[in-house]
Amino acid sequence: MKMSKMFVQTLREFPSDAEVVSHKMLARAGYIRKLTSGVYNYMPLMWRVLKKVEKIVREEMDKAGAQELLMPFVQPKELWEESGRWEVYGKELMRLRDRHDREMCLGPTHEEVITSIARDVIKSYKQMPVNLYQIQSKFRDEVRPRYGLLRGREFIMKDAYSFDTSEEGLDKEYQNMAEAYKRIFDRCGLDTKMVQSDSGAIGGSVSHEFMVITDTDAGENDVFYCNNCDYSANSNHAVSNLPEAVVDGKAYFAETKIVDTPKTHSIEELSEFLNIPSTLILKSLVYIVDKKPVIALIRADRAVEETKLMNAAGGNDIRIASSAEIAELMAEKGFNAEPGFIGPKGMEDITIIADETVKEMKNFVVGINETDKHLVGANLGKDIPHIEHFADIRLVERGDFCPQCGKPLFVTKGIEVGNIFKLGTKYSKPMNAVYLDENGKTHPYIMGCYGIGISRTAAAAVEAHHDEHGIKWPLSIAPYHVVIVPVNIKDELQMQIATKMYDELLKAGVEVVLDDRDERAGVKFKDADLIGFPYRITAGKTVNEGFVEYKIRETGEIEKVTPQDAVKHIIEAVANIK
Ligand code: ATP
Ligand code: MG
Repeated sequence: MKMSKMFVQTLREFPSDAEVVSHKMLARAGYIRKLTSGVYNYMPLMWRVLKKVEKIVREEMDKAGAQELLMPFVQPKELWEESGRWEVYGKELMRLRDRHDREMCLGPTHEEVITSIARDVIKSYKQMPVNLYQIQSKFRDEVRPRYGLLRGREFIMKDAYSFDTSEEGLDKEYQNMAEAYKRIFDRCGLDTKMVQSDSGAIGGSVSHEFMVITDTDAGENDVFYCNNCDYSANSNHAVSNLPEAVVDGKAYFAETKIVDTPKTHSIEELSEFLNIPSTLILKSLVYIVDKKPVIALIRADRAVEETKLMNAAGGNDIRIASSAEIAELMAEKGFNAEPGFIGPKGMEDITIIADETVKEMKNFVVGINETDKHLVGANLGKDIPHIEHFADIRLVERGDFCPQCGKPLFVTKGIEVGNIFKLGTKYSKPMNAVYLDENGKTHPYIMGCYGIGISRTAAAAVEAHHDEHGIKWPLSIAPYHVVIVPVNIKDELQMQIATKMYDELLKAGVEVVLDDRDERAGVKFKDADLIGFPYRITAGKTVNEGFVEYKIRETGEIEKVTPQDAVKHIIEAVANIK
């Protein structure tokens, strides 16, 4: 490819809405162009990268025994009603109507469609196990599309679905996919951690995410991990052992009584006023889960993990209640306490969920829905309403200990590039997707599903590989392997040597760009760094002595070599791509 002909427009500045490196650089280097919020054009350079990621994914999925198909992007409402998700999927599901007023949606994922295919085709146990996958654009009307390709509304995904007759079969395929994923991300030049995660709207019982660990803002997930054993989990699923804490207040409160606690709206104010550690306060928080209030009770030094609370409440949507909603709830129950003084008392008819650690608390402090008052020396069972529902709703924090081995947990940020789920019969059962066993008995299929964000993976590679000058693509997914830069295109010898190397590399199957633009060398070098070619060969003044400059983008290393050696190095490097 001649640079003068390449359909690319680099920008002088980063786009103003770009917050993270991959968005900034991909936009500035001309890889992507925004069409509308969360929807991007993949320009020729980007498309080459995406096709390479897809190729790696295809090769590894095929090698793992999966078969590729392609399902429609538009899906009928009826299928989603069968699975029960039409109601629960929420606003991320982009719904539309056709000319006959039939309701449809743009596929955010394809469990329903694949299950309907299987139901028609897989009639006997003899047809399993089978794993089917596709690579396709998905649409999710994300609340906050941001970070360019990392969280788009339209994005490219590889989604795979496995069908088995037994849990053991599913376990085996799950392991098989985990190994394939490891190879895929390795080949894309990405170091990933496989972490336990919440199963979310897709459902099922067990799931893991593949995280690219990053210290940039792009890491939307907190990952807790242990250095001593293999424990690692997304914060929405992580559990921990707690450090020692004072959880019995008998040294502070001789009796159970209501005390004045004026103006103690915050936990800090309350613990300071009563001169007690916050571990002796039972905090009551009001959430709205699927439009209904839920009260979460938790030791006041700890925070609630909203996904865990939502799951415990059996909901699909959660947010903290606004002060207006809290006031409304108070009024409804005949109280008028300000936030800070809320408690479970008198709230018996709404869902109350307490964190498991609350069981250990004794002689504690709790709000009683009266402003400027608290109950001290309170105990479960006698002083507050009976709690039926205990669950782990706690956010793990730095300083907590590993639930497996007891050593300290560490936390880091991660970008989720892939996700594997054991679905079991979550879709096959409601959709009545069954097969006949050896004895002619029907059973629902045991399913798994396995996703990889193709476009997110490419963007994550930029997050993982860049410097202040631009992208440093891993060779395996770079749009081109090498750029040849003649410093002065009017210099005959420089041009002749550059063109000769270009022809030889092309002939050897190397993806090479010749920067034949009539631009200053500085401009060409800047563009080369920004676009992120893994190698650069410069034909400058030294060609007169028989040398060119060979630069490795990743390390910045520069060597003076003969044109023959430069060509040889590149051909070897390309031949060694995994
Ligand atoms: P997230 O928690 O980041 O929203 P998810 O759990 O909703 O992800 P899945 O439904 O498991 O994601 O989708 C499979 C893969 O698709 C993810 O691992 C991710 O790589 C990719 N993906 C999901 N949502 C987006 C998006 N909005 N933009 C780009 N890629 C996405
Ligand atoms: Mg999502």
